[in-house]
Amino acid sequence: MLTTIIYRSHLCDEVSYAMLEEMVAAATLKNGKANVTGILLFNGTHFFQLLEGPEESVVPIYDAICADPRHYNVVELLRDYGPSRRFGKVGMELFDLRDQHRDEVLQTVLDKGTSKYQLAYEDRALQFFQTFVEEGEKENYFEIPTGDAWEFISDGNAVALPITASASDADCRFAFQPLIDPFARKVVAIEALLRTPSGDSPQAWFEGLSGDALYAADLQSKKVAFAQAGALNLGALTLSVNLLPMTLVEIPDAVDFILQEIAANGLVPEQVIVEFTEREVISRLDEFTRAVKMLKGAGIRVAIDHFGAGFAGLLLLAQFQPDRIKINRDMIKDVHKSGSRQAIIHAIIKCCTSLEIQIAAVGVEKAQEWMWLESAGISQFQGYLFARPSLTGIPAVSWPEMRDNA
Ligand code: C2E
Ligand code: MN
Repeated sequence: MLTTIIYRSHLCDEVSYAMLEEMVAAATLKNGKANVTGILLFNGTHFFQLLEGPEESVVPIYDAICADPRHYNVVELLRDYGPSRRFGKVGMELFDLRDQHRDEVLQTVLDKGTSKYQLAYEDRALQFFQTFVEEGEKENYFEIPTGDAWEFISDGNAVALPITASASDADCRFAFQPLIDPFARKVVAIEALLRTPSGDSPQAWFEGLSGDALYAADLQSKKVAFAQAGALNLGALTLSVNLLPMTLVEIPDAVDFILQEIAANGLVPEQVIVEFTEREVISRLDEFTRAVKMLKGAGIRVAIDHFGAGFAGLLLLAQFQPDRIKINRDMIKDVHKSGSRQAIIHAIIKCCTSLEIQIAAVGVEKAQEWMWLESAGISQFQGYLFARPSLTGIPAVSWPEMRDNA
C-alpha cells in the first residue's frame, strides 16, 4: 500500500554541505530503484523529509535512514496511507531553506505536486511541511545526547528483606522497585509488586480468580505487602501498592482493612500511595470516587497507573484528580523517536502541571527515553534502566553519571 513517512532529524556537526549533497545524490539513486519518492528540507541544522512509496520499500529505507550516523535525534512525525503519491515525479529533491523565502519554498513544494487533486494544506502531511518551514513546534525539538553519554552506576545500597519476612507461609510475595528522581538523586517511593510464591507475575497470581474472589485476594495480598514493607524499615519513605479499582468498591470495609494493616506494621497512612489502573473504573465511577474519598480522608494518597492506556483516561481525570499519574511503558517506549508519543506526553504534562498532579514515567529501559522525558519536564522515573524489581528487598539504584568525554 502507498505509504508516507515524515521524519525530522539533526545533522551531525562534522557533516559538510558537500557531503550532504553527495548523500542526497546517493539517496536519489537508491530511492529511484525502490520506487520511493519524496522531498527533503534542510534548514542548516535540521532535516525534514517526506518519503512516499510502497510500504515494503519505504519502511526499510526509513529504517536505514534511522541508522545513518550522519544525523541523530530522528523523530518520526507521520506514518500514513493513501491512494496516490503527492510527489510522483520528483525522485528525491532537496530544498535548502536558507536559499529561499519561506513562502516561496512552500509554493515550490506545492508546485511539485503530482496528485490528481490540487495539493492543499488540509492534508496532514503538508501541514507538517508548513509547520517545519515556519519553525512552529521548534521548542519541542529536544537535542538529547546519544545514549552512551551517560553511564549508570549502582549505589550498592540494597536493603535485604529479613528471612523471617520473606519465608512467610502466605500464598504471595512482593517484589520492590524504587521510583526515583535521578537529577535530585533521590528515591521518591518504593512500589510493592505482587508475585506468586515462585516469583511469577501478578497475572499468573490472579489467574483462575474472578469476581469477588479476585477482589478479596487482591485486598488480602496487601497484608503481605505491608508486612514485608514494615520489615524493610522504610522510615519516612513512601510506599506504593497497587489495587484493582473494583476491589475498593466491591469489598466492604476495604479501606478499614488497609488502614489496619498499615498500622499493624508500623507504617503511617501518609506514607502510603494506592495506585489504580484506570481500566475498570469508569463503569462505577461514582462508587469508586466515594471509596477514594475515604482513602484520602484517612491520609492515603492516590495515583492513577497506566494513565492513558485504559478506557477512562481524560474523563477519569475530569472527575477526580489523583496526587500522581504514572505513564507506563506502552506510552513511553522509544518516545525519543516518536512524534505522536511526544505530542501526547507534552499534553499530559501540560494538563497535570495545571492541576498540580505529579507525573512519573514507568518502564524506562533506555537512556534516551529517560533523557527525552527529563527534557519534556518529567522528573520521576521507574524502570530497568535504574533498578529492576527485586524479590529480596529494595534493590540498589543505578544513578546516571555524565561521561567525561560527552
Ligand atoms: P505497574 O503498577 O505499572 O507496575 C510496573 C510494572 O512494570 C511491573 O510489572 C514491573 O515489573 C514492570 N517494569 C518496571 N520497570 C520496567 C521496565 O523498565 N521495563 C519493563 N518492560 N517493565 C518494567 P509487574 O510486576 O508484572 O506488574 C504488572 C502490573 O500488575 C502492575 O503494573 C500493576 O498494574 C499490576 N499489579 C502489580 N501488583 C499488584 C497488586 O498487588 N494488585 C493489583 N491489583 N495489581 C497489581
Ligand atoms: Mn503501579
